[in-house]
Amino acid sequence: MTDTCKILIIGAGPTALGAAKRLDELGQSDWLLFERQAEAGGLAGSVVDEAGFTWDMGGHVIFSHYQYFDRVLRETIAQWVEHVREAWVYLGGQFIPYPFQNNIWRLPPDQLIDCMEGLIDARLNISTHAEKPGSFHDWIVSNYGNALSELFFLPYNFKVWAYQPKKLDIGWTGERVARVDLKKILRTLVLKQDDIGWGPNSTFSFPLHGGTGAIWRGLAEKLPPEKINFSNGLVSLDIQNKKASFENGKVVSYSHLISTIPLRELLLLLVNQPQLTARADELIYSSTHIVGLGMDGQIPAELAGKCWLYFPEPEIPFYRATAFSHYSPYNVPKPGKQWSLMCEVSESPDKNVNSATVAKDVLKAAASIGFIDEKSCASLWHRRLEYGYPTPFLGRDKLLAELDKALLEKSIHSRGRFGGAKYEVSNQDHSFMQGVEAVDNILFGDEEITYTDPNRVNTQGKRPEPRRPAPGGM
Ligand SMILES: Cc1cc2nc3c(=O)[nH]c(=O)nc-3n(C[C@H](O)[C@H](O)[C@H](O)COP(=O)(O)OP(=O)(O)OC[C@H]3O[C@@H](n4cnc5c(N)ncnc54)[C@H](O)[C@@H]3O)c2cc1C
Repeated sequence: MTDTCKILIIGAGPTALGAAKRLDELGQSDWLLFERQAEAGGLAGSVVDEAGFTWDMGGHVIFSHYQYFDRVLRETIAQWVEHVREAWVYLGGQFIPYPFQNNIWRLPPDQLIDCMEGLIDARLNISTHAEKPGSFHDWIVSNYGNALSELFFLPYNFKVWAYQPKKLDIGWTGERVARVDLKKILRTLVLKQDDIGWGPNSTFSFPLHGGTGAIWRGLAEKLPPEKINFSNGLVSLDIQNKKASFENGKVVSYSHLISTIPLRELLLLLVNQPQLTARADELIYSSTHIVGLGMDGQIPAELAGKCWLYFPEPEIPFYRATAFSHYSPYNVPKPGKQWSLMCEVSESPDKNVNSATVAKDVLKAAASIGFIDEKSCASLWHRRLEYGYPTPFLGRDKLLAELDKALLEKSIHSRGRFGGAKYEVSNQDHSFMQGVEAVDNILFGDEEITYTDPNRVNTQGKRPEPRRPAPGGM
């Protein structure tokens, strides 16, 4: 059973679907896609639990840097709910609007003075020494000062990444971490006024039905079904002879491969490539537990209207909780009579989590801070994602550059959240466009800007649609 195709795509998450959509749109027919799971979506998929609550794989909000991505989403989903991106920090029993550093006027006076002094010291040190921080830990302290770092940024980042910030690099920070604006902080302090990060332009859309996964299931359904193979994972890859073997025994001969599975997994599946395979475990990542609390009754007044909250304190197991019923009323089986909260807990070799108890631990913690009443819990849902966050570890960029070069020499584009392993371009829009750009690179030699130059993509406003060659001109 050997098939042949020009472009072979592995996976059916946003990256793979970006590649497939682009090929289809360009009128290309010589391609195939293989996915291990029974449906599309990957980490951007959604499930409905036994009680009828819909869950995403963690809080998914669309931030788009691309016109092409916007168009495809609008063509795929007809009904959306529009939201204002309201994010909060929960600390010391208090809600503080995000960005945290701009709203420290809400802290008790002692803490506030420590934080302000730290911010001023940090600014003076930066301007006099202008040292380049070596790790994310140093970057945090040199930007926010000691007190604010210890109160929020260091504990929160350990909770999210599951590695101490000393192990993380800084090249990825770009737009992902809000910077310090001392004048703004002074203004909020004097006027005792919040600076909310959710101004008029900070909105996002969410599918009315089916969760985030509806986008990707919908897109997959529009692609030629004869090219899409579900429930058939890649089991080994012979890059010397360009042959991929699958679970059902099928072998596919390809000219180009777009792999969207974790790069680490890809290296482990290579046949007779000991030097590449040996590097797999250098790719550090963390796992994520998603715990869904499906609740009877009404959302508590203090959570109403809030989209998501950050939790820096170590006593609370989750780093983020999303008021998921707020995203769409149909995320619960009885709209208006139920609500839901989705919590995320990170795990790594440096931060152990007991998978058997984590759901109950989350339930108890949410009850202890008064967010829920345990007795009203209609559903307690738990999913562990082995690959949750691609860690931007020290030395990552050098390793990725070496691996990418070796794979491209064998006509392999490894792209996407874990395929490309660059956190700063690992959201759905970035991932989808990495797939699109990989196709344009293979067909036309176009630059893959998202993978090769994340800062440009993240800082230069919305990118225009990629060129559309005239039919027959490919
Ligand atoms: C907790 C969390 C929160 C997030 N929040 C947001 C957010 O707010 N906004 C946002 O835009 N994005 C968010 N994301 C990121 C989003 O999920 C990713 O951008 C997106 O899913 C990445 O797509 P991908 O195709 O690169 O990878 P994936 O979605 O991981 O898809 C890879 C696919 O490959 C398949 N596969 C694996 N191994 C094999 C094999 N051997 N053979 C065949 N198939 C295989 C998998 O089953 C999967 O379907 C979040 C992710 C997580 C985990």
